[in-house]
Amino acid sequence: MNWEENVRKVVPYVAGEQPNKQNMIKLNTNECPYPPAPGVEKLAAGMNCDALRLYPDSNTTPLVDALAEYYGVSSKQVFVGVGSDDVLAMAFLTFFNSDKPILFPDVTYSFYDVWADLYRIPYKTCALDENWHICPSDYKQPNGGIIFPNPNAPTGLLESLDVVEEILEANRDVIVIVDEAYIDFGGTSALSLLEKYDNLLVVQTFSKSRAMAGLRIGFCIGSEKLIGYLNDVKFSFNSYTMNMPSQVLGVEAVKDDAYFKETTGKIIATRERVKKELKELGFSFPDSMANFVFASHENVPAEKIFKALREADIYVRYWNKPRINNSLRITIGTDEEMDRLIAFLKQELGKIEV
Ligand SMILES: *Cc1c(COP(=O)(O)O)cnc(C)c1O
Repeated sequence: MNWEENVRKVVPYVAGEQPNKQNMIKLNTNECPYPPAPGVEKLAAGMNCDALRLYPDSNTTPLVDALAEYYGVSSKQVFVGVGSDDVLAMAFLTFFNSDKPILFPDVTYSFYDVWADLYRIPYKTCALDENWHICPSDYKQPNGGIIFPNPNAPTGLLESLDVVEEILEANRDVIVIVDEAYIDFGGTSALSLLEKYDNLLVVQTFSKSRAMAGLRIGFCIGSEKLIGYLNDVKFSFNSYTMNMPSQVLGVEAVKDDAYFKETTGKIIATRERVKKELKELGFSFPDSMANFVFASHENVPAEKIFKALREADIYVRYWNKPRINNSLRITIGTDEEMDRLIAFLKQELGKIEV
C-alpha cells in the first residue's frame, strides 16, 4: 500500500457551517443580509439558457472592463476569479515562490496557512499587538512575500493607509497582497497606492459587500505586469474558471452603485448601534470597520454563549484556537435580526452558568 506515500496530504480549511433552518438567524459567515441589486434579480429571471451550451468568455472581459471602469484603472490591471479564495489561491501559486518564508499575522484569515501548506510555501506568522493591531516593524525582516487582510479578519480592525504603505515601502522586492474582503464597510482601499508600488496586489470580493457569495466572484487589481503573470498561471490551470451567469450578473451588480452604497451604508449604521448595545451588555471588542464584530464578554465564556445561541438557531462563529477562544465573530445582519440577537442575549446571558 505504498501509493499513499505519494499523496499530497493537506489539512483543509474549515468554512463556517451553512445551516438551512426556518427562522434561523445566520450571522456566522459574513454574508450580506440584503438581496443583490434589483437589476441582478431581473437579469437572472430572464436568463437565456441556450447560451449555456457554449464555453464562457475565458477572459471574463465584460466583468473585467466593468471593474476597471468602476475603480478607474486599466482593464489590464484587473483579474477576476471564482471568489477571492480562487484569486488568492492563484496569487499564492504565482507570487510566493521564494525559499524565504511569507509573512502574515498570527490572528488572521485561516485560509492563508492552508494555501501555504498546500503549495509547500514556507511561512512565518507575526503576532498582532495586545490591541490586535499589526506591528509594521515585524514586516521588515527577510521574507518571500506578505499577505494580510485590511480590515483584518476576524478582528475587524482597520489599519491606516500609512501602515499599509510603511509595509510596502520596506518590501519593494516581494509581492505584498492586501486582502480587502471587508474594505467597503468604511475603510480606505490601498488602490490609491498602486501608482507608486507595482508589487502591490489588492484583492476584493462580491461575497460580502455586494451580496453575491453564492455566485463566487472575486477580483484583484495590480500593476499590468503583475496581472499578466497571474493570467499566465490561471491559463495554465483552468481557462474557464468563471461561469457565464456569474460573469453577466456580476456586471449588473457593479452597475448599480446607488444600491451598493445604500446597503453597505445600512450595514454600517446597524453595526454602530449594535456596538453600543453589545457594550451595554458587557461585551468588548476591537472597533470593527467590517460587517462583523469580534466580541468577548466580561463574565460569560464565548463558547458557552456560542452554544446557547446555536440552540436558539442563532448562528455566530466561534474558534477554539489560542488567543481567540474567548471571542465570537458576529456578522452584522438586518436591524431586525440584530434586535432578535440582542433581545436573546439580554434575556439569556444572565442564565448561562459560568
Ligand atoms: C470571506 C473572505 C474571503 C473569501 O471570500 P470569497 O467568498 O472567496 O470571495 C477572503 N478573505 C477574507 C479575509 C475573507 O473574510
